[in-house]
Amino acid sequence: MIHDFTYLRPGTVKETFAMLKEHQDDCKVICGGQSLLIIMRQGLVAPEYVIDIKGLSELDYITYDDATGLKLGATTTHREIEFSDIVEQKYPVLKHMEEKLASIQVRNWGTIGGNLAHADAAGDPAPVLIALDAMVRVGGADGERVMPLEAFYTDLFETALEPGEIIVEIQVPLPRSKTATVYQKFNLLESDQGIVAVAVTISLDGDGTCKDARVVLGNGAPTTIRANTAEETLIGKKLNDAVFAAAGQAAADDSSPVSDIHASEEYRRHLIKVLTQRIAKAAFAQARSK
Ligand SMILES: Cc1cc2nc3c(=O)[nH]c(=O)nc-3n(C[C@H](O)[C@H](O)[C@H](O)COP(=O)(O)OP(=O)(O)OC[C@H]3O[C@@H](n4cnc5c(N)ncnc54)[C@H](O)[C@@H]3O)c2cc1C
Repeated sequence: MIHDFTYLRPGTVKETFAMLKEHQDDCKVICGGQSLLIIMRQGLVAPEYVIDIKGLSELDYITYDDATGLKLGATTTHREIEFSDIVEQKYPVLKHMEEKLASIQVRNWGTIGGNLAHADAAGDPAPVLIALDAMVRVGGADGERVMPLEAFYTDLFETALEPGEIIVEIQVPLPRSKTATVYQKFNLLESDQGIVAVAVTISLDGDGTCKDARVVLGNGAPTTIRANTAEETLIGKKLNDAVFAAAGQAAADDSSPVSDIHASEEYRRHLIKVLTQRIAKAAFAQARSK
């Protein structure tokens, strides 16, 4: 059962920041409630104040321009991202990721800000957005700051948000030439989080050498992480099956997954190895065709 709390519903971002400052020691923001209500029901959190930002239309937007790229307001739903024409056209991997996230019901109500702030290492958007080099804009009554999304995750279900701050916006840079990002999760049930997930970005130079790479692991560690050795294995190489296999092994070595009721640590490492190998190859093929 959920304990009693005081429900607050600000009408603007400014009002939200003021409420957060006033109640920062004992409040939780709620947006879609798809994660928060579960942990409140489990008694894992019991805030005195719940501040509902779902109605903040100021933060419900998807914009794109050729100078700065894509911007997603924090209260944008998964479904809005899934059906955005500009996302499909410029960042198809984001659409592909959203199509496989949870169920239509969850995607209709859950938001990108809530998903990222929940900081579940098994969440789908974070690996893809980190592979796309996304930044996150956070803010509160004392001002705003922008940081790389990869720096946002500090530990198991922990983020760099300070008390009184919320995610305001996610910023994704312009798509680069000869570059592709591919994401895949391994899940036993459709509409579920991945036992593990891997996102890979490959950038090629004019002669087909890999000039940049990102390998990002979901559920491969307590937080979403980059597999740095796997990236080093790819960068500067002419890519072929032997390099993809080496990158897969490096990603497995870079990971530190847990054993739980869904899978053992050993099985997760094996999945990371195989997925990284396959997805790096797929990203290479896509980048080459651009
Ligand atoms: C059945 C089910 C299946 C699911 N499957 C998947 C899946 O396959 N993949 C996946 O990635 N996710 C999955 N989820 C999780 C779901 O996608 C997320 O819970 C949802 O996107 C979170 O958004 P929300 O708006 O509902 O957040 P809420 O539940 O409202 O909030 C979640 C957390 O974020 C905080 N918060 C919310 N908004 C902000 C903000 N703007 N700034 C700072 N903090 C904020 C809240 O205080 C809370 O701590 C699943 C959930 C359910 C119920």
